[in-house]
Amino acid sequence: MTQKAKQDTPAMRQYHRFKEQHPGCLLLFRMGDFYELFFDDAVTAHQTLGVTLTQRTEGVPMAGVPYHAVETYLRRLIAAGHRVAVCDQVEDAKQAKGVVKRDVTRVITPGTLTDETLLDAAAENPLAAVAFHSNDNDPEGIASLAWCELSTGRFALTTLPASRVADELARITPSELLYCDTATGDAPPRVQTLADRLGCPLTGRPPYTFRPAESAQILKQQYRVKTLQGFGLSDTDPAIQPAGAVLHYLRETQRTDDADRLAHLHPPRRFDPAQHLIIDATSLASLEVLQTLRTGQTQGSLLGVFLPRCHTAMGKRQLKHWLCYPLIDPRKIDQRQQVVESLVNDSRFADDLAAVLNRLHDVPRILGRLAVRRATPRDLVALGQSAALIQPLHHALADRPALTETAKQAAELIDPLCDLADTLNTACVDSPPAHLREGGLIADGHDKQLDHFRSLQNDAHTWLADYQKRLIDECGLNSIKVGFNKVFGYYIELSAANKDKAPESWHRKQTLKNAERFITDELKQFEGEVLSAESRAVAREQHLFDQLQDLARKQTDPLRAFAELTADLDVLSAFAAVASRHRYVRPTLVDEPVLHLTQARHPVLDQTLAESFVPNDLSLVRAEGQRGKGEEGKDKGAVDSEPTTYDLKPTTSPTLALITGPNMAGKSTYIRQTALLTLLAHTGAFVPADAATIGLTDRIFTRVGSADELHAGQSTFMVEMTETANLCHHATERSLVILDEIGRGTSTLDGLSLAWAIAEHLAARQTRTLFATHYHELTQLADTHANIANLHVTVREWKDDIVFLHQIAPGATDRSYGIHVAKIAGLPPSITSRANDLLQQLAVNHQTPGKAATQRSPDPMPLFTEMLEHPIVEQLRRLDLNQLTPMQAFDAIRQLQQEL
Ligand code: ADP
Ligand code: MG
Repeated sequence: MTQKAKQDTPAMRQYHRFKEQHPGCLLLFRMGDFYELFFDDAVTAHQTLGVTLTQRTEGVPMAGVPYHAVETYLRRLIAAGHRVAVCDQVEDAKQAKGVVKRDVTRVITPGTLTDETLLDAAAENPLAAVAFHSNDNDPEGIASLAWCELSTGRFALTTLPASRVADELARITPSELLYCDTATGDAPPRVQTLADRLGCPLTGRPPYTFRPAESAQILKQQYRVKTLQGFGLSDTDPAIQPAGAVLHYLRETQRTDDADRLAHLHPPRRFDPAQHLIIDATSLASLEVLQTLRTGQTQGSLLGVFLPRCHTAMGKRQLKHWLCYPLIDPRKIDQRQQVVESLVNDSRFADDLAAVLNRLHDVPRILGRLAVRRATPRDLVALGQSAALIQPLHHALADRPALTETAKQAAELIDPLCDLADTLNTACVDSPPAHLREGGLIADGHDKQLDHFRSLQNDAHTWLADYQKRLIDECGLNSIKVGFNKVFGYYIELSAANKDKAPESWHRKQTLKNAERFITDELKQFEGEVLSAESRAVAREQHLFDQLQDLARKQTDPLRAFAELTADLDVLSAFAAVASRHRYVRPTLVDEPVLHLTQARHPVLDQTLAESFVPNDLSLVRAEGQRGKGEEGKDKGAVDSEPTTYDLKPTTSPTLALITGPNMAGKSTYIRQTALLTLLAHTGAFVPADAATIGLTDRIFTRVGSADELHAGQSTFMVEMTETANLCHHATERSLVILDEIGRGTSTLDGLSLAWAIAEHLAARQTRTLFATHYHELTQLADTHANIANLHVTVREWKDDIVFLHQIAPGATDRSYGIHVAKIAGLPPSITSRANDLLQQLAVNHQTPGKAATQRSPDPMPLFTEMLEHPIVEQLRRLDLNQLTPMQAFDAIRQLQQEL
């Protein structure tokens, strides 16, 4: 036989057919007790799972996983970003004529998971699709996004500037991103960039699934509507394109054309960015909102502060959502704060609520599995037990002024949920098996038929004992045993010595070493009854299980409302628990763009360092009638450019604070905690401070210089400047800007000049800004700008060492203590003392720079002196070209040259 012919078996032909139908998927092909993978898939499985690579026939690589452990392997394949099609045998192999019939029964992809074992309970698992409506380099281009969580049914869409797509996706954190396939078969570069940044797998989809007409049609079909207007969508809305692509994909992976199978999907809700404080991807990452920069773990992030205080999986997911989408409507924030406050003030209430939440199961995900027909007996029982909690929940909420509205909503759910709970809880046992293969879900006494089948099985024991006794009496042989064996069924056993004493009517069944087994007609008939009773009992249970699932599906709406309500309450109770434990305070949100924090702490370090963390104050405020310098009249944020008289005293009303201080003093901590407290205040949470008044904020920008250790290797100076440019364009009077060592990634003079100009720009816009910098020169800005103030982190010199006090104080720092820090870091004393000498000389040179150029010290340091600023440079910088005529400018240059 040729190699080709050896490979061309009927099974392999089946294999290739399914493989073709599921491009881009690993195909797990059931053969006996194994799922096998072939060709490249086998190599992938070998690499990802470490399973042995063999050959089926020559030239056909093969790797397999045992069927009973398939879920574990699926989890690992999905975690590695693969898509998997599971091909099962759909008929009994014994009954098959020719090759056994197979079909793909599941397509599992990272963004379409529903099974509990494959999902992380605390994290959303959204599937997103992106459609760009313009070509790559159109700066005004727009794009649309749709994202959906199959496991809970959340579905949202939006149209936005193409430049914002990456930021929005960073908040969505999709598990899989769909895009419209191109002719080349490669993802377009901008899509690839998105996926790289998000670290999520990409799936190219046929262009028709993104077409407006097809999208409108599938959406209408899914929600059984004639028009999409009810959802605030027109047929030509660009956002329906990715939404349609998402739906197409879900149907394909769930292998259904039936809208019922996805009945739990919410109608797509348009996401309105204007309702939320904007945090871009960079800020989210540098503030460590969801994960730390160093480890990528939740622990150590802002999320990690509250997450352990949530009682339910849905609360954990909602918490992440709230942190990524803080509110800007003060009334909504106030509503949340009121609940947190009542929980903080009344620990009985908090305990009652916690007791209810603690017993709740993951209702939204169970609803998802019910819809896609993958619910387990345990899911159903968990649903019943959860629904029953509506009553104690309502009880806990009653008579709480802050929760009148919530209690009212809960009251409306009592009837439908209690009905369902009663039905499920009486029909089912308390702890059912994980699957229904052997029954065991339905309680005794619930169904007459089932009880009958079960009694047949139970009575079998008595019947067999009686029968054995009868045979012993009839034959006079005490050693007769009647037994059962899974393979051979019921039998009568005689020891080998007695085997010839068997009556005629017994039929020989099996010969063992020491015994002979027989069967009688009577026993045969009994066997048939019992075995059929067993399978009929299981079939009956399956039928009842289906009925109960239908019943539960009918209550999807109240169940979902219940889940949303409890998810919110869970987050609020987590806010309250942290607030009580760590002495947080309710922040006051005001309309004016101010920021007053008293004894504020960093939420994460506050927990890890506890008492040794040093709290600090901050006050940013715009003085009444204060005007910025307005040097760029064209800027929208800037005010008219009337001449400003500068207040030369330290300002009491800065909008921009420059923070200086040695390395490791606590600059970064201080400015980040300010951003984190502002963010928290907008989620309705309390904040770690003694008092906080925070002006409503539209955006939080955080930019960390590319030379910062935390960003090392992640960012370049180019990225730093691109991000800063974006910030300078978009920061408004209502924004909060956090700059950490911006301008360090280039030569000193370049960097300083850039930092200087950026600070001036933000001061002119009156944007609340904290700027940590090691450029002492910047501190001069406070002399010329009324709304710029200097702050520094204090250190105490002790003998030849320094002690970090972590205390923020007004004014600029006088020294940078770099050599002290180096000493603490363990640099050899010979080096630090030489550095100290050099510093002395430089200090002399710096104070009299005019001389530095002429009278070189005996140990010249051209490199160092060049880096020092020449006074001429400073004069040049201060020239206000807008105020000079060409002649004046010429004179100025002549004068500078003379001085040189
Ligand atoms: P810088 O940005 O000035 O170099 P960091 O803000 O990174 O300094 O702080 C360095 C370390 O100092 C932190 O990791 C923390 O351990 C400690 N630290 C910072 N601020 C405080 C504070 N307010 N109280 C106590 N320890 C602090
Ligand atoms: Mg720092």
